[in-house]
Amino acid sequence: MEEECITCECIFCKIARGEIPSKKVYEDENYLAFHDIDPQAPVHIIIIPKKHIESLNEVSEDEKGMLGDLIILAKRLAKDLGLEKGYRIVINTGPEGGQAVLHLHLHLLGGREMGWPPG
Ligand code: AMP
Ligand code: ZN
Repeated sequence: MEEECITCECIFCKIARGEIPSKKVYEDENYLAFHDIDPQAPVHIIIIPKKHIESLNEVSEDEKGMLGDLIILAKRLAKDLGLEKGYRIVINTGPEGGQAVLHLHLHLLGGREMGWPPG
């Protein structure tokens, strides 16, 4: 029996392959950023590596450069999208961390007072 293809069925992999439409704000060979379908702030962007990695827990030491790329990309997009008053970057991880989509992603949130603690 063939093994299940996780990357075929993963919703963010499908978005990366263009099989599900998204409102893209940035794309290059390795990364993609698009508007969240259910925004929690006036600006709510999802930033993903195109490579399927389930969560932050699956990121190896060798891949720490990728995390740097994702955060630097978030910073650049925050500037491009006019979030000069500030913004929040979130990486939900695991069930208690609120992770619903099992493909590593950053949330970039801004355009309102974000509040603390986050609830
Ligand atoms: P998380 O709870 O951290 O896994 O976040 C997953 C996020 O993906 C949620 O904020 C969803 O609204 C968002 N999302 C799910 N499906 C789509 C989609 N097709 N296009 C854009 N964002 C999506
Ligand atoms: Zn995926």
